Amino acid sequence: MKRAEFLRSLAALAGSACGESLPPPAPPPVPAPEPSAPAPAPVDPPRVYRHWAWLTADTELGDGDYERQFGMMKAAGVGDVLFECFNGREAFFASGHLPVKADLLNRVLPLASRAGLNVHAWIWCLPCNVESVMQQTPEWYMLNNKGKSTVEHPAYSPEFRYLCPTQAPVRAFLLRRVEELLKYPIAGVHLDYLQFPQVVLPPGLRDLYGVTAGTASGKGGRAQDPAEENAERPEFDYCYCEVCRSEFRKQTDIDPITFNMPSASDAWRQFRYDQLTRIVNTDLVPIIRAQGKKVSASVLPDWEAARQNWGAWELDAALPLLHHSLYEEDLGWIGFQTQQSVERLVNKAPCYSGLLVSHLSPPDLTGAVRLALESGAQGVGLYSAQSMSALHWEALKAVTDEEEVKARQGAG
Ligand SMILES: [Zn+2]
Repeated sequence: MKRAEFLRSLAALAGSACGESLPPPAPPPVPAPEPSAPAPAPVDPPRVYRHWAWLTADTELGDGDYERQFGMMKAAGVGDVLFECFNGREAFFASGHLPVKADLLNRVLPLASRAGLNVHAWIWCLPCNVESVMQQTPEWYMLNNKGKSTVEHPAYSPEFRYLCPTQAPVRAFLLRRVEELLKYPIAGVHLDYLQFPQVVLPPGLRDLYGVTAGTASGKGGRAQDPAEENAERPEFDYCYCEVCRSEFRKQTDIDPITFNMPSASDAWRQFRYDQLTRIVNTDLVPIIRAQGKKVSASVLPDWEAARQNWGAWELDAALPLLHHSLYEEDLGWIGFQTQQSVERLVNKAPCYSGLLVSHLSPPDLTGAVRLALESGAQGVGLYSAQSMSALHWEALKAVTDEEEVKARQGAG
């Protein structure tokens, strides 16, 4: 059929009154409803420090509840809210491919904006408990050095079914989540759980997850020998899936499964660091920055155990999780680790010390914030906003005001 005839037949089909003329142009596609635009933020005097706070999604809360929380945050010096958008199981935004609990992000954004707060979309990156993914693509999941998959044998806790970051479809799956979120008027994307399961857990988590170190120590107790406690064990060592093995073999001619002591191979450790660094620096940073938004991440002080070489990540902000009690350390450790974290970041991005509020009394919070700020942090990250009592907020405001006076005097 010639083009003119084809167009005429189209016109006839469309019931056009003037059969000889071209068919009317198709109506433009109806755009998906835009998430409501935020109101302009009120202008405040500039602060020297700026805190961040994780806010877990709670669909039961009303707008008034969120407004009250945001008001307390703002008054105490919080500038950025990390709002939970994906918890490894369900999404709290209008995802087209993840199970959606509710589009809470769209509801919270204008409320936070009216309070003068930035909102970053906080997502779990690698753990995935989505039923359809577990059933349809079990090969996406990490395998340990005994060949067991996290889909059937989650690492430490039932929610830790980790996907393998080396596999291209897993990277695409993560990218899709981020691309969907970038349609919202968010300030940035916050990457959480972009790591391997820690091959050696911090001491406070060993008890929590019922992990005993080594085998010689016997029933339920701690290993007496520190070397045994810190040894890498094959059941917690990931990932030995076909893709990881063949990619590593391409680089080195070695199948990592043949290592007698995998922890002795620098190349194998570096290979795993590189898989995560590639996701941040190659897959995510360019597309997030192209939208004028920021990339931040929750990162671990025991980064080697999580194969998370985050010092090399091109972040706009790093939030090391300095949960001192889980490492069985005192408050002073927060200052030391803050300093280490600031030095670790190759691109000199600002660092915000992550604090586990539920393990800190208000006076301890004051001490922790002071140590963090005096050790080079630009602020702290509160995990989580919901754990903050009125006394915690008061303590945070007081110590921040005090430290700002000191910093201004120092600068003057
Ligand atoms: Zn793998």
